[in-house]
Amino acid sequence: MFGDSAMWLLAAVVVCGALAATAIGLVVARARLHEAEQRVRDQESQQEGISARLRENENRLRAIIESEPECMKLQAANGTVLEINPAGLALVEADAPGDIIGKPIYLLVAPESRDVYRSHVRRVFEGESVAYEFRLVTLKGRSRWMQTHAAPLRDAGGAIYALLAITRDITERKLAEEHARRHQIELARVARLSTMGEMATALAHELNQPLSAIAAFARGCTRRLRAGTATLQDLREPLDSIGEQAERAGEVIRHVREFVRRRELALGRVDVNQIARSLAHLAEIDARQHEAVLRLELAPHLPSVVADPIMVEQVIGNLVRNAIDAMTEACSPRREITLRTAQRNGAVEVEVVDTGPGLAAAAIEQVFDPFFTTKADGVGMGLSISRSIVEAHGGCIGVDSVAGSGATFRFSLPLAAQEAHRVGHRHGLHR
Ligand code: ADP
Repeated sequence: MFGDSAMWLLAAVVVCGALAATAIGLVVARARLHEAEQRVRDQESQQEGISARLRENENRLRAIIESEPECMKLQAANGTVLEINPAGLALVEADAPGDIIGKPIYLLVAPESRDVYRSHVRRVFEGESVAYEFRLVTLKGRSRWMQTHAAPLRDAGGAIYALLAITRDITERKLAEEHARRHQIELARVARLSTMGEMATALAHELNQPLSAIAAFARGCTRRLRAGTATLQDLREPLDSIGEQAERAGEVIRHVREFVRRRELALGRVDVNQIARSLAHLAEIDARQHEAVLRLELAPHLPSVVADPIMVEQVIGNLVRNAIDAMTEACSPRREITLRTAQRNGAVEVEVVDTGPGLAAAAIEQVFDPFFTTKADGVGMGLSISRSIVEAHGGCIGVDSVAGSGATFRFSLPLAAQEAHRVGHRHGLHR
């Protein structure tokens, strides 16, 4: 009996103990649950705070972009416009965002600017920030010049997902520059023509006197000989005078040559590619006005030559100008000029290739002669002077052409190493 009661008591104690333990466990679990819930709530409110701040930042950024007076746009690697602000829409003359968003920007970039534009976009997607200028044709067909600063936009993982560009209209500045450049070219042309004109007038005037005197003395001699009254003594004096006047004429010509020879070459180490680039920059406007395209094909790692940079630029400029003239005069349907440099046979070679009418065999023989011209307002001195300049540098100049299929004018300048000994010596043209 006692045994049973004790058993029951023991069982009751065990059950009570278990119940108490369970109750304590429950209390602890609830407390932990409460804590966890509190943590989740804290995190949620923290998260909400972050999201609100992010939204606020995004709104502020959007407000800035929207009110930014300059065009801001996001663009994909393939040129698709992802976003653009109202100033940008106005710049491209879009009536609604849908006119431009989702479309390729290359619809607006002018054909001659596309290659440059593409290469800058590529650089941005490789991680660079770049600035570039290009011509754009608006959705309403107006031509405008733009300057863009572009930078890569990265996602949280660092991958570039878009290009952010700030673009401004620089048409006014470009027009002013173009005007100034055209003015300068015109001034240089007038100065060249007037210098040549003045020289020719002075030369004609100086030569006229001795030539008239020679003619007069010769006529006198003939008259006396015809009349049969002249003695040898009578003829000696006018013949001596003829000789003197002829010498005087020779002296005048010698003076002119001296004058030209005094133009010494200002020799220095010259990067021909650099000269070609700056010349192309200048000639570009001229080419465009005559619907011609000027392309550069410059040899990389071209060694420098010892030369007078202004003279070299004058030669290239002459050849490019002639190519434009030839294609314009012949109304060539395709007007392309390729300005190419290369290293060949111990020299730097420059080629100006055009798609104009070319030259007939007879003209090829004469183009470098002074005063050979087929132009109504030509002087015929450009190629002659170019040859003098190239030869004064120790190089040579020539032309290849098949009539009807363009011309290739080519000149060479010996490499600096071979020419180095010439630096510092007197150099003149027309030696
Ligand atoms: P100008 O330009 O005053 O005529 P140049 O000496 O520069 O004098 O040129 C002489 C002539 O050579 C030109 O009138 C033209 O007939 C010919 N010529 C020069 N370059 C070319 C060319 N690229 N294509 C065809 N003809 C050319």
